[in-house]
Amino acid sequence: MHKRRGDEPGVLASEPALRVIMRRLREIMAAPADGQARLDRIVRQIAGVMVAEVCSIYLKRRDGSLELYASEGLKAEAVHATRLNRNEGLVGRCAEQAKPINEPDAQSHPAFSYRPETGEEAYHSMLAVPVLRAGKVIGVLVVQNHTRREYAEEDIEVLQATAMIVAELLASGGVAGSEAEIELSRSASAVIPGQPLADGIALGHAVLHEPRIVVTTLLAEDPAVEFTRLEAALQRLRDSVDEMLSHERLSGAGEHRDVLEAYRMFAHDRGWHHRLRGAVQDGLTAEAAVERVQNSTRARMLRQIDPFWSERVRDLDDLSYRLLRILAGRADDHGQRANLPDDTILVARTMGPAELLDYDRTKLRGLVVEDGSAQSHVAIVAKALGIAAVGQAHRIVEHVADGEAVIVDSEAGEVHLRPSSDVIAAFQDKVRFRAKRQERFRELRGLPGVTREGQRISLLLNAGMLVDLPQLEESGAEGIGLFRTELQFMLSDRLPRLDRQTEAYKAVLDQAKGCRVVFRTLDIGGDKVLPYLHRVPEENPAMGWRALRMSLDRPGLFRTQVRALLRAHAGRPMALMVPMLTTASEMDAVRVLIDKELHHAHNHGHPVPASLSIGAMLEVPSLLFDLDNVLPKTDFISVGSNDLLQFLFAVDRSSAQVSGRYDVLLHAPLRALRTVFEAGDRHGVPVTVCGEMAGSPLNAMALLALGCRSLSMTAANIGPVKAMVRSLPLSALRDRLPGWLDDPSCNIRVELAAFAKDHDVEV
Ligand code: PEP
Ligand code: MG
Repeated sequence: MHKRRGDEPGVLASEPALRVIMRRLREIMAAPADGQARLDRIVRQIAGVMVAEVCSIYLKRRDGSLELYASEGLKAEAVHATRLNRNEGLVGRCAEQAKPINEPDAQSHPAFSYRPETGEEAYHSMLAVPVLRAGKVIGVLVVQNHTRREYAEEDIEVLQATAMIVAELLASGGVAGSEAEIELSRSASAVIPGQPLADGIALGHAVLHEPRIVVTTLLAEDPAVEFTRLEAALQRLRDSVDEMLSHERLSGAGEHRDVLEAYRMFAHDRGWHHRLRGAVQDGLTAEAAVERVQNSTRARMLRQIDPFWSERVRDLDDLSYRLLRILAGRADDHGQRANLPDDTILVARTMGPAELLDYDRTKLRGLVVEDGSAQSHVAIVAKALGIAAVGQAHRIVEHVADGEAVIVDSEAGEVHLRPSSDVIAAFQDKVRFRAKRQERFRELRGLPGVTREGQRISLLLNAGMLVDLPQLEESGAEGIGLFRTELQFMLSDRLPRLDRQTEAYKAVLDQAKGCRVVFRTLDIGGDKVLPYLHRVPEENPAMGWRALRMSLDRPGLFRTQVRALLRAHAGRPMALMVPMLTTASEMDAVRVLIDKELHHAHNHGHPVPASLSIGAMLEVPSLLFDLDNVLPKTDFISVGSNDLLQFLFAVDRSSAQVSGRYDVLLHAPLRALRTVFEAGDRHGVPVTVCGEMAGSPLNAMALLALGCRSLSMTAANIGPVKAMVRSLPLSALRDRLPGWLDDPSCNIRVELAAFAKDHDVEV
C-alpha cells in the first residue's frame, strides 16, 4: 500500500499518507479551477496516494439518490450518469448509516448493486466513507482495489480526512452548476416522535442548547499556532469537565454522573490527545483535527456491538463539540447567547429548569429534549413560560442543525424537522384554530368557575416569577394557589438577601392587586439545584435533603424567607405553605420558627401582615395516614400531586421510562385523594390541588367528583378547565363515582370520558 507512494515525485517513502494527501489537497484548493475540475483532481490524487485502482465521489441529490460526480478508475461515461437510489448498494448503505464500509469482497456482499456502465466488476475490495457536513451525510467517498483485502485503520482515516475537504469544497459552492440538485447541508424533512411536556404548537427555528460548530477552515496556515490553540483548548476542556464533576458532587444532581464520568474519561485520555496532535501535525487546523479524530474514533466505536459503546459515542460527540466550542470561543454562550431568533425552538439532549430560565423568554417558542417527563420541573417551567415542549425525542440533537425550521407539536407529541411548505401551512392553520379556541376561553375570563348546578369552584394560578403575574388577569384566575419561590433563587447566582427577597415578594403582591397569593417556601433539592448551595451527594435526591427538611435544618435560610414575606405583606393578608411536610410534628416546628419571626417583627417595629394563614403541601404519603393529626395544625392543605403520585407509585417523576406508566385515575390514587377531601371537610380545612393533575380537564373532573373545590394550575389550563367546570353536572357525576371506585375492574378514565360525552361536558 505504501510502496507506490514512494515512487511518486516529491513524496518521501516514510511520509505518512495523510500528510501527503493534505499537502496535495492544499495545492488543489489553492490552484484556480472550477469545482468539477477540483473534484477530478482530488479523486486522482487520492487514488495515487492510497494505491487504489478506483477513487470515486458520489454526491447526494435532493431526492436522496447518490450521483457519481467524479471518478478515477471507473468508466468516464458513468460520471453524472450513475445514480444510486437511497440505500442502494454498499455506497447507499454507507450514506444511510453515516459510517465507513470496509469490504474485502464487495461483489459477494448481499447489498452490492451491480451497475454495468461503471465497469466496476473488476474490483473486489471497497472502502466507502460518508462525506459529512454539520453532522449530515452529503455524499460518499469510495476507493476500490482489484485484490481482495481489508483496508487498514490508517486508510480509513486518510479517506475520512479527504471527505472533510470535499465537504468544505461543496459548502463553499465549489461545484459549479450543481447546487440546485445536490443536497448540501440540507436534508429531507423528518418527523421525530416524542411525548408532550408542555401544551402548544410552535413553529420556529432550531437553536441547539449546546451549539455545534461547523468547521470551515481545515488546512492550517501555521501548524505551530494550531498546536498552541489545541493545547490551550484541551486544558480548558479538562478543567471544565473536572469542575462539572465537582459541582455535580456538591449539588447531587444536574447532568448525569455516568455521562460526566465518561466525559472525564475521554477528556483525560492520552490516546485521544495523541490522535488530535497527530492530526494537527498532518496539517489540519485544531478544529479540523477535532472533527477528524471524532469521525474516526466514532467509526471505531460503532463497530463494537455492545450498546454501551453507542452511548459512549454520544459522549464522545458531546465532548468533541464542547472542544470545538472552546476553540471557536463559544464555550459559555448558551442561554445568554446573542442573536437568538425571535422564534427560537431550543433543542437539547437534556435540560434543567435553571438552564431553561437562562434564556430570554421573549424569544422562546418551543423546547425539545431527548429525556424529560410531563411532571419534571423543566416541563413545569416550560408551561409557566407558555412554550410548547416535547420530550423523549430520540436522538433529536443528531438530526437537527442550528437555524433549521422546526415545528413542535405537543398535541401529537411530535417534532417536525425541516417541514415542507405544505406541512408549515397545515400547522399555521392549526395554530389559528388554537388561537380561536383560546379566544373562546378568553371569553370565559370574566365568568365565574361554577358548575351547571351552581357549585362554586376556585380556579387558581401556579406561578413562580414576577413575569407570570400578568397571566392572573389574562387567564381569569381568582388568585395564585401556588407561588414557587425557589425560581427566584434558581435565577440568582447567589443566595438572594433579605432585602432582595422582600422586594421580589412585594412586587408580586403589588401586581396581584389584592388577589390571594399562596407563597410556598423554598423547595430546593431533587432536580432543583442551587449552584451556590453546597450539598452532600445523595443516591435519591427527590427523597433526600430537600424542601422543608432543608428549611428545618437550616432555620436561618427559612427564617430569612419568612421575614421577607412578613415584611412584604405589611398590612395585607398573608398565606404561606411549606413543601414536603412529612409528619405532624414538623408543622409544630414550622410554627415555632414563624412565631419567632413574628416576635422579631413586633419587637423591632416592622410591619406585619393583616392576617396569617399557614398551610402545608400534601406530597408525602405518610400524611395520608395521619390526616386527623395534621389537619388541626394547618390552616389549609394543598395537594402536590406531582410528588404525591411519584411517592405513591414509586415512580421517578422526571424519568422518561416510568413517569407515565401509571394512570392518575387508577383506583389507588383516587381513593387516597378521597380521604384527603373527606378529612378536609371533617376538620373544616380547605384543600386545593396544585399538581399537574389539576390542569387536565378530565383529571380535574375526577377531583371535583371526589369532593375537591379548589384547583391551581398553569395559566394555559385555566380556560379549558373552566369550560369543563361550567358544563359539568357535578352532582350526577358524584353519584356515579363511588360505584366506579368500588368496582375493581372499572376503567375510571373510560367511564369519565363517556360521562363527559353523554352530558356534553367540555373536556
Ligand atoms: C407537586 O409536587 O405537585 C407540586 C406542585 O410541587 P412541585 O411540582 O414544585 O414539586
Ligand atoms: Mg412538589
